[in-house]
Amino acid sequence: AKNEGRNRFKYFSEDLTRAARERIDIEIRLRQAIEQGELRVFFQPQICIDNGAVVGAEALVRWQTASGELIPPLRFIPIAEETGLITSIGNWVLRETCRNGQRWRQTGFPPLRLAVNLSPQQFLHSDISDVVAKVLEETGFPAERLELELTESALMKREKEAIEILHKLHGLGVHLAIDDFGTGYSSLAYLKLFPLDVLKIDKSFIEDIPQHTDDMEITATIIAMAKTLRMRVVAEGVETAEQLAFLKSRQCDLYQGYLTSKPLPVAEFEKFLTDYRPI
Ligand code: C2E
Ligand code: CA
Ligand code: CA
Ligand code: CA
Repeated sequence: AKNEGRNRFKYFSEDLTRAARERIDIEIRLRQAIEQGELRVFFQPQICIDNGAVVGAEALVRWQTASGELIPPLRFIPIAEETGLITSIGNWVLRETCRNGQRWRQTGFPPLRLAVNLSPQQFLHSDISDVVAKVLEETGFPAERLELELTESALMKREKEAIEILHKLHGLGVHLAIDDFGTGYSSLAYLKLFPLDVLKIDKSFIEDIPQHTDDMEITATIIAMAKTLRMRVVAEGVETAEQLAFLKSRQCDLYQGYLTSKPLPVAEFEKFLTDYRPI
């Protein structure tokens, strides 16, 4: 038994070394990727549940290596967050999104609201309202067409500071959303503290509709609660017509999910907009 324990420790530390090596490797490659322009912004359509119209899109970053491999954000965003690289990545995503958004406005696409994810680091430690103001000015994209998504961890880490920053951002005219709602310590009382316009229901509640009646009740409650606070509600991760029908019956405002489209590269997103017919 003693030997077994030692072996287990050995494997454990080898795993750790491997993990640490992979992290450092990704960090180095990520720095190069940023310089060499290997990051891409994909867009996932957001649909109005009432009339089926495309009314917006969420910008989601991708890393496309020189060999064509597509690295998903969950493999590099956490590392970028810890190393501080997230701020330059996030600011770049913001600029790309507004630049494309303005171009779409000028080429006659229907008006869209574009949502960009802000990481806790980027939100709390980077003069974000100055950055946003500058990007809007440089690209000409209207503030009220931009939505910034924040997670509970960004808001609750430093509540007072967070509220101050949110008010500054609101002052610019951008819309503010709370992302992954329901996964943290979200409560009605807490939500009231923050000037937020949009609530995004986490996809973990949507994925088991209609099998898990608990998740259906939680979803219905979150929608009702958001309405009480006069927030727009977005359901994410909608994959089936049945999930959509349930959300519609509960007057959820918008949804995004594979049912309509995966996140798409710019050219494919434009094609999507051109060909789109409501389901
Ligand atoms: P998120 O903000 O919650 O984004 C939604 C995720 O759900 C995206 O994963 C999207 O592709 C995925 N998704 C959308 N519809 C469906 C569906 O119907 N079913 C399923 N199973 N998944 C669906 P993605 O693009 O891999 O992004 C993962 C996370 O990485 C994001 O979660 C966000 O936290 C982070 N992220 C992505 N881009 C950025 C960025 O530019 N900045 C920051 N700070 N974080 C980002
Ligand atoms: Ca998001
Ligand atoms: Ca989310
Ligand atoms: Ca679930």
